[in-house]
Parts: sequence; structure tokens; C-alpha cells
Amino acid sequence: MDGWPYRDFDVAALIAGGWRPTPIHEVIVKVHQRCNLACSYCYVYEHADQSWRDRPAVMPAEVFDAVAHRIGVHARDHDLRQVRVVLHGGEPMLLGAAALGRLADRVRAAAPAGCEVRVGMQTNGVLLTEPALRELRRHDITVAVSVDGVAADHDRFRVTRRGRGTFGAVSRSLELLTRAEFRAGFGGLLCTVAPDTDPVACYRALRAFGPPAIDFLLPHANWGVPPEQGGHGRWLTAAFDAWYADPDPVPVRLFESVVDLLLGGASRSEQIGLSPAALLVVESDGAIEQIDALKSAYPGACATGLHVSRDEFDAALAHPGVVARQIGAAALGPECSACPVRQVCGGGHYAHRYRPGAGFRNPSVYCADLRMFIDHARDRVVADTRALIGAVPA
Ligand code: SF4
Repeated sequence: MDGWPYRDFDVAALIAGGWRPTPIHEVIVKVHQRCNLACSYCYVYEHADQSWRDRPAVMPAEVFDAVAHRIGVHARDHDLRQVRVVLHGGEPMLLGAAALGRLADRVRAAAPAGCEVRVGMQTNGVLLTEPALRELRRHDITVAVSVDGVAADHDRFRVTRRGRGTFGAVSRSLELLTRAEFRAGFGGLLCTVAPDTDPVACYRALRAFGPPAIDFLLPHANWGVPPEQGGHGRWLTAAFDAWYADPDPVPVRLFESVVDLLLGGASRSEQIGLSPAALLVVESDGAIEQIDALKSAYPGACATGLHVSRDEFDAALAHPGVVARQIGAAALGPECSACPVRQVCGGGHYAHRYRPGAGFRNPSVYCADLRMFIDHARDRVVADTRALIGAVPA
């Protein structure tokens, strides 16, 4: 790490000034640290932070119980009505559906009465079978699957260790997930944007799987490790148009968040907006960390120095990296603060703002792309709003 990147934040002064942290509502738990695929853009295995090598492959039972206990305490202390727990990896299905079910039961058992624990899983989809899905349904675990568009594009990036594409296996899993008995457990699709692919074909391919929701993610990059290709703004703009023109659109979190923000609402996406991020990660060794997308910045970027064996999640709420993602416009650098679309963009994904030697108070490395996309979305929303108002009799 090249120096303390949060030197601009004085948490004590913020609290003295009346700011209060937002309690953690979502915990990503790294229950299995290894993966059965070797996706080219993976931020866990292919980027700067290689800490996975030193952590246990599987989260030990006592560590998971400590996680469940900390979640319960946090929910009780903050009177939370709902908490989301994401069983994550690596690839969580390497643990097996029965073991995942037991984890879901344990985390729910540790929650206070009146607090609903929604348990989800993010998977590459390759190991989902009918018996596995039945087990996951039995324990009310929703399943979100990573798919990168049409078969040829998906198979370029999402490959086995031997380099074989996985679209066929994932398609079979998605066909199962959309069956009536499993449908309620289908959480949605996650797609990483590749600017040299056809965005309209991508949206349609994802839509054809009948997901309840889609999210598009920009590949993790920063000013030290810029994106390998340009054109992400054009891609998002064209995909947005396909979605916006769809008479029966699937909810796309990034697009819906932009429209909501343009109309004065809040964001539900980490990638955009100034809404407080209320999310933490627990690694398989019990380390409490910030969003693991920061692994793409520098080794140790996610670390807080906290551990579930001794620390409550409240301690993380005072970490400058967590605070920076909860104080909205106050965390922005000078260019973003002066930007006309800052309320919508919010400086982009926190991990994408990192510049070696200068920390995170910078525009996103995708600044030009975000500006193009947001300006375009704003023009569409404004035109439609004007047409709507014009159509309303005075
Ligand atoms: S990243 Fe760029 S578009 Fe976004 S708020 Fe900052 S200056 Fe504006």
C-alpha cells in the first residue's frame, strides 16, 4: 500500500459535527475461498491483492458462528428489521448445498426476534443441480448467477481452469432455476460489461433466461490499472436504450438506480449515487473487511484490522474507508464536487476512484463513460417527462 489513503477523513470531527453512521444491512461471507473457474477479469485471483492464498479455503465452523453472532448483535443493537447475508466465495457451491443450508439456518438462529435474515448466494452456476436447488430452496437461499451475455462472449471470459467455456453448464442451471419449483429462489443475473460485445444482444440474451433482475458491472479498474479497453460508456448507453425501449423490461439495478437518482430518489447500486454503503465482507479467516472490489486497488486495500472473534461490526462503522462510503458528497474530490451530474454519478464505484499515491478522492477511472451514460439517460428521462406533462390536460 502506498501510504494511508484516507488521510482526508477525520471521523471524530464528523461525529462531533452530527454525522451518524448507517448500520450494516448486508454482510458478504466468504464461506469458500477457492473457485472452480478461472475468469480472466476476476478481482479475487487476478488482481493486486493475493491475500486469498493465506486464508483457509473453507471458513471454519467457529468463524461462521462468530459471524452469525456478530450479525445478531448488530441487528439487535440497531433494531434492524431486515439483514441480508450473501454466501460468497470463490465459489460457494464448492461447499455443497447441504452445508450452505446449515449455514443459513445458523445465521437465522442467531438473529433477534423480529429481524428477517435474507440469505442469498452468488455463484458461477456451474455446480447447480436439481437436488442442490431443492436443498437451497428448503433453506430459503436465493441464487444469483454470473452470466456474461451471449454464449460466445460468456465463453471468452468465464472459463474452467482448462480454458473451456461454461455457458452450456450455466444455461442448464438457469433452465432449472426458472422452473416453477425453484423460481422463487432465483435472485437474478450479474453480467460484467465487455465493451467489444453487442450490448443489445447481451441484454436480450440475459432477458431470455427470465431472471427477476439483472445487474451490469463495470470491470474493476483504477487510475493505476486502467481498463484494458475503452467504450464502456457507449456500451452502457446502448444497453440502457434496449432496456428503456423494452415494453416489458426486466429490472436492471444500475439503470433503475440512474433513473431513480435523476428523479431525486436513492441508489441501490454500489456503482452510482451518493447513498450510504451499508455493507461489509467477512473473509474465510474471520477478518472483517470492506467491499472486496477494493482488492483490485492494492494489496490490503480491504483490510480494517478487525476480526469477528473480537470485534463487533460497530467498530467497522468508524473505519475511515467505511465512513468514506457513507458520507456522500463529503467524500468526493474536487472534480466530482464541481461536476453537474455528481448527485447521480456520485463519483462512480469507490474502487474505481483509486489513484496510487493519491487515494480515493478522485473521479472514477470510468468518469468519461459514466458522464456519457448519465447524460444520455437524463436526456431520455427528461424528454419522456416533458412529453408526459405535455399530454396531461391543464
Ligand atoms: S466520476 Fe466524473 S462524471 Fe462522475 S461525479 Fe466524478 S467528475 Fe462527475
